Amino acid sequence: MSFREGERDEALSILQELSSAFGVSGFEEDVRGAIVRRVEPIVDELITDPLGNVHGVMNPQGDFTVLLVAHMDEIGFMVTSIDEKGFLGVGPIGSWDPALALGKSVIIRGWDGNLELGLVGTIPPHIKGQEKDSRAPQWKEVFVDIGASSRKEVEGRRIRVGSPGLVMGHFSLFKEDVVAGKALDDRAGCTALMMLLRRIRGKRVGFRVVVAFSVAEELGARGAKVIASRWKPHLALIVEGTSCTDTPGVTQYHGDVRCGGGPVITVADKSIVVPHLLVEAILMAAKTRGIPFQIKPPFVGSTDAGAIHLSGEGVPTGVLAIPCRYIHSPKALMRLEDLANALDLLEAILDEAPAIHRRLIGGSPI
Ligand SMILES: [Zn+2]
Repeated sequence: MSFREGERDEALSILQELSSAFGVSGFEEDVRGAIVRRVEPIVDELITDPLGNVHGVMNPQGDFTVLLVAHMDEIGFMVTSIDEKGFLGVGPIGSWDPALALGKSVIIRGWDGNLELGLVGTIPPHIKGQEKDSRAPQWKEVFVDIGASSRKEVEGRRIRVGSPGLVMGHFSLFKEDVVAGKALDDRAGCTALMMLLRRIRGKRVGFRVVVAFSVAEELGARGAKVIASRWKPHLALIVEGTSCTDTPGVTQYHGDVRCGGGPVITVADKSIVVPHLLVEAILMAAKTRGIPFQIKPPFVGSTDAGAIHLSGEGVPTGVLAIPCRYIHSPKALMRLEDLANALDLLEAILDEAPAIHRRLIGGSPI
């Protein structure tokens, strides 16, 4: 564990606040508010763009630019129908399994920003009968009960078709180094970048550093599409929360990513093949500083890197992630040690960013 003085408390405080905030894709206001409040006093310049992305800029006059991005949004659902008895039909925001929603408590955000409680209803086995339904549930069969008895009552609670919601996930500290909460994908990444800003503040960086918090990543890296075009960075790094393969039922053939194994480096996913010289530079930065790391199984998932690396004339982009068990479910689990190591590796890469860029530009074909 390589947190510096005060950083463990800072990590817990940020993680708890961000994990508990409502931030379904396209409805990130609460998360954005929390990030802006904490980041504004640290950065030289803070911008919220028309799509809602937040940009924290250090040393804005610098002519060499490094862009770091984590996404604010999280998976959830949207109300698709309201029946005459007051039950809500819902569909997914982002990619997740409806079976994980059954029987869970939910929050729906009404049109005034009001947060309403509900639960995902199920049919009891007594009524279903002896015959077990082995078929996986479909989203069109999932319904939310907010305790209303009519459509009119639902509307009275300022909920309409199009209202967003999410499954509640109480943030908890399991033991000194283990936390669990909702939306650690990617509030863990947001936390790492907010803490990195504080570390940068304390030293002279000879170039421009932009730390961006993006919207709607879970719907296809939508916010990221405009982030890179604003800054035309020389180098970009995406900071994510990624899945682990160390739980029961997952075989070694799915990869070897452990909770507690250190930051996870992407070589390739569905949205990018990271320039291999950049991968080598990241791994070298980790090795020389004795920071543990893991390699993400290739071609699993996609991130904001997909949009960022294809912007402008092309941006060399890497991806570094904090391993989190059970992402894209109501609650995930992670170790603070992985966050601390990710923070160290981010700082190491940033220290060497101009040299890494020179190697990429002058190097053999990437
Ligand atoms: Zn993510």
